Amino acid sequence: MNKNIHVGTEAVWAGEKEYLVHGATQVPVVLSVAYNYDDMDEWYDVAIGKKKGHIYGRNTNPTVQAFEDKVKTLEGAEAATSFSTGMAAISNTLATFLLPGDRIVSIKDTYGGTNKIFTEFLPRQQIEVTLCETGDHEQIEAEVAKGCKILYLETPTNPTVKITDIKRMAEAGKQAGALVIVDNTFGTPINQNPLEFGVDLVIHSATKFLGGHADALGGVVCGESTLIEKIYHYREINGATMDPMAAYLTLRGMKTLHLRVREQSHNAMELAQYLKTVGLVEEVYYPGLPEHPHHNIAKEQMKGFGGMLSFSVKGGVETVRGLLPKLQFAHRAANLGAVETTVGPARTTSHVECTPEERAAMGIPEGLIRVSCGIEASEDIIHDFKQAFEQVTTTLEV
Ligand SMILES: *Cc1c(COP(=O)(O)O)cnc(C)c1O
Repeated sequence: MNKNIHVGTEAVWAGEKEYLVHGATQVPVVLSVAYNYDDMDEWYDVAIGKKKGHIYGRNTNPTVQAFEDKVKTLEGAEAATSFSTGMAAISNTLATFLLPGDRIVSIKDTYGGTNKIFTEFLPRQQIEVTLCETGDHEQIEAEVAKGCKILYLETPTNPTVKITDIKRMAEAGKQAGALVIVDNTFGTPINQNPLEFGVDLVIHSATKFLGGHADALGGVVCGESTLIEKIYHYREINGATMDPMAAYLTLRGMKTLHLRVREQSHNAMELAQYLKTVGLVEEVYYPGLPEHPHHNIAKEQMKGFGGMLSFSVKGGVETVRGLLPKLQFAHRAANLGAVETTVGPARTTSHVECTPEERAAMGIPEGLIRVSCGIEASEDIIHDFKQAFEQVTTTLEV
């Protein structure tokens, strides 16, 4: 990334110019599956990768490439390749590098789907998985030092927004010769750039903050060209390609990424502070709060604390059942990162694949509510929660 240009300017302009045609000011959505060549030699050169161009939509597409170029610029990466979903980005990246007999070290608090890959799919391919306590840096370092192919991290985590020290983990990984991968979906390229701290690959579910409007699925991985080429090759053959329309919607959404994330981070901080004053609230989880166990690490590696927070309520599931339907300005949905505030119980959303016992082991109370702050006025979000809490408190007292 050109260090003299601000991230907001890059969000608007990066990845656009090369793809503009006919004087259009916006990147076109190219839906064509294949590309015509009258010159047989040129066709051959493009097909073998000697000359730039497109052959077939499962491999490359101009709209999709514009999206990849924007993301890679924002993450300060040499290259990026995209996928149909965030989970496709994660599973294809892991499958590119892991072979039977290999070992991967990660944390217990990864995204529910990622956790399933670790506990269900990798072990049946004779890949050893070691999941450490999230935030226990000594344990992770000790496990990595025993030798592993990949150290896989996610910070902040979903849903209890735990923080891992990226720089420290990148060093541990490097010493052991492991590939260090960070899922930066919650961090966003605006608030956190893991490549700056020495990790090898950064993954996003583009479905969330990058797109920002909950209307397109996508995933992306950024890093050095040599690594990205290997991942791209696996993806082009296995076929989890991003759709051009999804790429266009995400590209458009990303033009306001910096504005949205700034507002979402502000709203999350305000809401977290308000929730701390509510009698019915047991605990508030937000890395921006000074009492968060890794607040200092978050301050060090993040430019903003993000739009995600969670809180647990007294009375568990019963209270959740009463409270959430009372909110006027929130979707009760499994998504996050959109312009609208979205709420959901962790037991129904991020960790629905786990049993109550597994959730308890992961430190996720049944009464935990995840909030993805939107870009509404923070006063209105807080007022909405206030009136909902008042109704529930009244009902409980009757
Ligand atoms: C949603 C999410 C994913 C998976 O992304 P999809 O686009 O839903 O496949 C991965 N990691 C994190 C942190 C997420 O929030």
